[in-house]
Amino acid sequence: MKFGGTSVADADSVTQVVDIVERHYLRDDEVAVVVSAQRGVTDQLIAIAEEIVKSQDTSTIGSFIHSLRVRHEKVLNQVAGDYASEACKEMENRLANLENILDAVHHLRELTPRSRDYIITFGERLNALVVCAAFRQRGIPSTVLDGCEAGIVTTPQHGEAMALPASDGRIKSRLLPLLTEMVPVVMGFMGCTENGIITTLGRSGSDYSAAILGAGIDADEIWIWTDVDGIMTSDPRVIDNARVLSTISYLEVMELSYFGAKVMHPRSIEPAMRKNILVRVKNTFNPDHPGTCIVHHEKRDTRVVKALTYIDKVALVSICGAQMIGRPGVAKMIFSALADAEVNVMMISQGSSEANITLIIDETQLNIAKVALTALVKQGMVREVTTNRDVCAVAVVGCGMAGARGTGGRIFTALGEAGINVMMISQGSSEVNISFVVDQADGQKAMRTLHDEFRLSEEDDE
Ligand code: ADP
Ligand code: ASP
Ligand code: MG
Repeated sequence: MKFGGTSVADADSVTQVVDIVERHYLRDDEVAVVVSAQRGVTDQLIAIAEEIVKSQDTSTIGSFIHSLRVRHEKVLNQVAGDYASEACKEMENRLANLENILDAVHHLRELTPRSRDYIITFGERLNALVVCAAFRQRGIPSTVLDGCEAGIVTTPQHGEAMALPASDGRIKSRLLPLLTEMVPVVMGFMGCTENGIITTLGRSGSDYSAAILGAGIDADEIWIWTDVDGIMTSDPRVIDNARVLSTISYLEVMELSYFGAKVMHPRSIEPAMRKNILVRVKNTFNPDHPGTCIVHHEKRDTRVVKALTYIDKVALVSICGAQMIGRPGVAKMIFSALADAEVNVMMISQGSSEANITLIIDETQLNIAKVALTALVKQGMVREVTTNRDVCAVAVVGCGMAGARGTGGRIFTALGEAGINVMMISQGSSEVNISFVVDQADGQKAMRTLHDEFRLSEEDDE
């Protein structure tokens, strides 16, 4: 069971978490718990690390450490009773450790990816102590493990590390034996390399941690507890009548999360899918709601389109030039230049005249991409590179689209009738996803138009 940032943000929510886990513990279910940082703490850790490496003023370090102490001790004192003082001592050790590292970053004027990763795991390091102490106070035996101790071995890509196959065996030998005796609390979001260097799994990475651990112990189920009733037909902050889906397939969730649906980390489905483990998404604050089951195969789906998502922090890059026509290797050159610059390409489309290739990339990588592609213009390989930041990508997702005729027609007719101009279209070969790009100002309208067109807010007999 993984509990996200809002599920562990204050004393009331931690009490809710303990209630949920206690219910399963008393039924003799074997449960391992993964916790995130309290909401907002990871953002604060990133901000302070980036600030103190440049700043002359070290007083911010002390006040930041103090604010973390106050915030976590407040919850601890409310939920941990007799176990609070022991946990407080350990918390002081961890805070002292963090303060020393921040001091070192300041004095060295150097924030390496490795030190940044270590710093940003402290939200989970502190919060796991609080949750573990709250379990003990309720009579549930518990201990705290960091992601590395729990057995998560990763690639050395700091900030976006991926689990290695060696994790399975380690997790089995380290975590599994604990389950018969206690409810271990594992700090989400982190693992370590073969050499023991701490890595992080990308923002929202605790979902991924839970899936890696669940696959490692061959869990019966992986439960993601969050602040909504399950996976919905769309982000409820964008579509107010978005509906909770009772089931959804691995592939559909992968497409949704890859295209920005914040409800799950994009990689968190892979480990579950590998072991065919059912994933449930449930609401910590409404535990009786059945939530969403994520499964391998949807039972015959009558719905063509299941859910929608969109990302607005993307940029469109168009590469044109008659030099490209009929010339083998131009696409290779473009993608190699981008890959060498570590730019991730999210969508691709190429006109049949071959005189134009259009790409969608993360907005933060636009400048790097421009530099890489301008070099090709200088070499005379392409004529022109144009870019547009004011766009957003919308993804229409549903396994039922595979083979269903006319879905594309319905999507683009509805958008046309709503007066929305589509700048680029791409359909993955899996046919689980049709995605397109519109002006940023039209993004939400496009979502609402399609949510209505496919009647996604209406219950069906799933
Ligand atoms: P946690 O802290 O539990 O990891 P997140 O904030 O990362 O929670 O993810 C839950 C949030 O994801 C929800 O509150 C909701 O606003 C957002 N969200 C975006 N798309 C969807 C979707 N399709 N279904 C459900 N929630 C979504
Ligand atoms: N605390 C981390 C983050 O904010 C991981 C997570 O919440 O899942 O990204
Ligand atoms: Mg999350």
